[in-house]
Amino acid sequence: MTDLHRLSIRELSEGLKQAQFSSRELTEHYLKRIAHIDPKVKSYVTVTAEQALAEADAADAALKAGHAHALAGIPLAHKDIFCTQGIKTTAGSKMLDNFISPYDATVVAKAKAAGLVTLGKVNMDEFAMGSTSENSYFGATSNPWALDRVPGGSSGGSAAAVAADLAPIATGTDTGGSIRQPASFCGLTGLKPTYGRVSRFGMIAYASSLDQGGPMARSAADCAYLMNVIAGHDSKDSTSVNKDVDDYVAKLNGTAVKGLRIGIPKQYFNVAGLDADVKARVEESLKKLEEMGAILVEIDLNMTEAYVPTYYLIAPAEASSNLSRYDGVRYGYRCDNPKDILDLYKRSRSEGFGAEVQRRILIGTYALSAGYYDAYYVKAQKVRRLIQQDFLKAFENVDVIAAPSAPTTAYKIGANLSPNEMYLGDIYTLAVNLAGLPAINAPVGFDKDSLPVGLQLIGNYWSESQLLSIVHQYQQNTDWHTKRAAIAEENA
Ligand code: GLN
Repeated sequence: MTDLHRLSIRELSEGLKQAQFSSRELTEHYLKRIAHIDPKVKSYVTVTAEQALAEADAADAALKAGHAHALAGIPLAHKDIFCTQGIKTTAGSKMLDNFISPYDATVVAKAKAAGLVTLGKVNMDEFAMGSTSENSYFGATSNPWALDRVPGGSSGGSAAAVAADLAPIATGTDTGGSIRQPASFCGLTGLKPTYGRVSRFGMIAYASSLDQGGPMARSAADCAYLMNVIAGHDSKDSTSVNKDVDDYVAKLNGTAVKGLRIGIPKQYFNVAGLDADVKARVEESLKKLEEMGAILVEIDLNMTEAYVPTYYLIAPAEASSNLSRYDGVRYGYRCDNPKDILDLYKRSRSEGFGAEVQRRILIGTYALSAGYYDAYYVKAQKVRRLIQQDFLKAFENVDVIAAPSAPTTAYKIGANLSPNEMYLGDIYTLAVNLAGLPAINAPVGFDKDSLPVGLQLIGNYWSESQLLSIVHQYQQNTDWHTKRAAIAEENA
């Protein structure tokens, strides 16, 4: 079998159940692809071949005994932000280059319990701060569609691994767009769930009131399978919500689009910097949804201009607090020959953190300092509330809201945008995290350079099933999600 990597999660699940192939064969197939193709893509920080094969054998035994979970024996890659017991977890940072967690993140534990096979840990921007994955201490990852381009970030390794068929599914995290934007840049489907739906326990913190884990895959159906495994209440995460979880797979249906009211925010389609091809593809996808029975409704989201400044105050403020734990004392990087305790703190942190992380710690510390707390941090919290209210008002009149996931397609590695230019690229994704809403990216075509374009659909709280069903139905009527990058066509 040379084309196991072409199968959907449902096909993999059925093939394993019917013993058309074993989990060991499937896992070996992926490990071989990683060995041959990943040197060009550089999506993996750590490949856990030996452990993966042991997990595959265990899954094969469970499958044989007939008591296996639907996903038993299917491989996946974890963003290197999820703690994995006994396996290095770096968060893309020199600070954690030698960090081996003594426990599993809940997402990892749930994946293990379901019998999923961990192929390894994939690259990301340092501490999830960035939009290109270039901020990783371990170097840049390439976009499988054009190796000289970025895969997006911060979950760029997850996106690149799936887009190059080096994993059938991957976990990602989204604090301000880090699932949706790399999914958009790499032609994938990625879901950012409602805040509190997926446990943050063992997920290395960036900005805790915004961070949320979720699935990245080729299709909405594949995302639904992974959501069934990772979603749910967790008493180890105090902001995890105790609310029934849908069976996201069973709820996928072909009737989500008919009569669906899709809000089109006027302000979103006049943003300076919105690429003409991105705009055209997104509009075409909305036309397609209209043909399928959706009703397009123009709406106002008046707070649009406040998204970038509000997020880039709150996220760094929370980051400056979360990252204060890396002091060189208990774990993580420690500088050589410290003179005294102050020198230990200072040099461990300035040598262990990269430039972007240091920039955010400085901004956040400033915004939280005694003289500026009210003027910046408290003000940003008030604006955050107004942004949320803007969405709630819109949802009185529409079911979902459409937007691009990013104003551009993937740009060149080393384009070296200024921090402000980079932050403006997050204009369409940040507000969803500030409001705690769920949103999904779906591939909807290509630009003039054959790079993928993504449509984002934002839902009301707990509408994950609905978002997955809308995209599922769209994908049953179009074939954008089936397109493969040339490198994914290579056989190992
Ligand atoms: N690009 C945004 C940032 O740099 C979002 C990152 C994320 O969602 N983790 O903060």
